[in-house]
Amino acid sequence: REKAEKFTFQTEVNRMMKLIINSLYRNKEIFLRELISNASDAIDKIRLLALSNSKELDTNPELHIRIKADKENKALHIMDSGIGMTHQDLINNLGTIAKSGTADFLAKMQDPSKSEGLDMNDMIGQFGVGFYSAFLVADRVVVTTKHNDDKQYIWESDANSFSIIEDPRGDTLKRGSVISLYLKEEAQDFLEEETVRELIRKYSQFINFPIRMWSSKTVEEEVPVEEEAKPEKSEDDVEDEDAKVEEADDEKPKTKKVSKTTWDWTLINDSKPIWTRKPAEVNEDEYTSFYKSLTKDSSEPLTQTHFIAEGEVTFKSLLYVPKVQPSESFNRYGTKSDNIKLYVRRVFITDEFNDMMPNYLSFIRGVVDSDDLPLNVSRETLQQHKLIKVIKKKLVRKVLDMLKKIDKEAYEKFWKEFSTNIKLGVMEDPSNRSRLAKLLRFQTSNGKGVTSLAEYKERMKAKQEHIYYIAGANRAEVEKSPFVERLLSKGYEVLYLVEAVDEYCISALPEFDGKKFQNVAKEGFQLNESEKSKKNFESLKSTFEPLVKWLNDVALKDQISKAQVSERLSNSPCALVAGVFGWTGNMERLAMSNAH
Ligand code: ADP
Ligand code: MG
Repeated sequence: REKAEKFTFQTEVNRMMKLIINSLYRNKEIFLRELISNASDAIDKIRLLALSNSKELDTNPELHIRIKADKENKALHIMDSGIGMTHQDLINNLGTIAKSGTADFLAKMQDPSKSEGLDMNDMIGQFGVGFYSAFLVADRVVVTTKHNDDKQYIWESDANSFSIIEDPRGDTLKRGSVISLYLKEEAQDFLEEETVRELIRKYSQFINFPIRMWSSKTVEEEVPVEEEAKPEKSEDDVEDEDAKVEEADDEKPKTKKVSKTTWDWTLINDSKPIWTRKPAEVNEDEYTSFYKSLTKDSSEPLTQTHFIAEGEVTFKSLLYVPKVQPSESFNRYGTKSDNIKLYVRRVFITDEFNDMMPNYLSFIRGVVDSDDLPLNVSRETLQQHKLIKVIKKKLVRKVLDMLKKIDKEAYEKFWKEFSTNIKLGVMEDPSNRSRLAKLLRFQTSNGKGVTSLAEYKERMKAKQEHIYYIAGANRAEVEKSPFVERLLSKGYEVLYLVEAVDEYCISALPEFDGKKFQNVAKEGFQLNESEKSKKNFESLKSTFEPLVKWLNDVALKDQISKAQVSERLSNSPCALVAGVFGWTGNMERLAMSNAH
């Protein structure tokens, strides 16, 4: 008998386990979701491998997940016919944490000053607690696994250290893994069929492989009644009620009903991918549940779009907008992966292209599945495939369509979270600029809320040629700017660009629906006025010519580039204005604050 090799866990694993146990004790049940998701990942991997070598599947062509409770031994087994693990895989995958940023993540989560205000469950859940969550419910975990390239091994751990031994029973699993959880006293409920079934429905209903559960069924069965020797009748019995019964007995068939318990693998989930169903046949609840299982987000999505794209390339897609921007901190510490999962003919290929969406739309989550892409090429080749480019282009259009359709109330919420993304889009994506411009909202002199450019345009005065804006640090500042005064007094509306990115965004936008933008703080800005007021202005100009000359040549010679009579002011006597090609005061302010 071979002796088991002993190993210690990597420090990060110990810390991760401690963190999981301490923060998720009220949420123990997520262990099942994690283990089923690993089982599903393992099947995805063997299927992907089989694309280039179909023999890989021969060891066990059936791809499924099975769950069995063993009450006698207080054990719950999660079995998959996935890729399995080699001896080295066991050491690497179940003894260390390979994810980049884990150490930072752990440090952050364990420092109360940094994790304050964060929802620990959400953070840890989205980071993916993974395999080690098994120790939430088990004090001993045994992994039996068989990979095509190695023998069958048994990995075992009590959360303090682990051991690996070649399985003395030989290669009993054809391929795949069994995760056996020896449940803690307080976790015995997870041996109950109903409990497990409910958890699978709650967390794992969208797993794309059949999940079967070893479950009992009680059935009524007709069994033949054995001929019983009829007792001798005595004279006394004749008048008894028994006589009637006996008569009735004679009419009974020669069988009887008995209850019988049978055990079988029962299918728990519907493994047909939701995005392959007809949009009309999927309800809101299903979209929401799928979103939650896809993202591990605990709140529902803001909106989604589900469509079949046809033309140069046919593909199905289901895309979601989350309610809130994934937090900065999460982005930084999360694993580097795309939020879009790519499938080819229902086979999961990758979520690591990292460019399925342009940067500014990286918050979009979802799946894309195409029959037109090749299956048996490397991911690198696939990523360069010309149809991928077509798909990406179409995805952006579909996302922008979806955003356009959000109702006013929900759009306000969207704008609060994702306004910067849309503004960056205007700057980064020229081919969709006009679509993006329709999504912009700005503060305005017309009321307290925000306005779209289309709404502004509708309110423009008959002869107004430009969309007027002013940029500044905040609403109060721009509101009392002397540049705005005259316009407001004449009944024009001015957009208030008070976010740092606003002015850059507008600079990237040559026009909106035929109307150019005019910074009211820039030189050369003139109102279209009547002949009378033009004459009036000309006479003002000549009246003040000596003053202007004196300001230019003597008084402010070195302080300003030019003094001139302005028609922009009504109450203020003077204002500092940026040159046509110069920086505006606001841009200077931003540049200064960036430099510090
Ligand atoms: P993640 O799934 O995010 O990679 P986990 O902690 O859940 O992290 O799992 C760690 C690793 O262990 C996986 O990446 C995988 O390599 C391996 N693993 C876990 N469960 C299985 C399984 N059932 N079959 C094959 N490999 C597995
Ligand atoms: Mg996992």
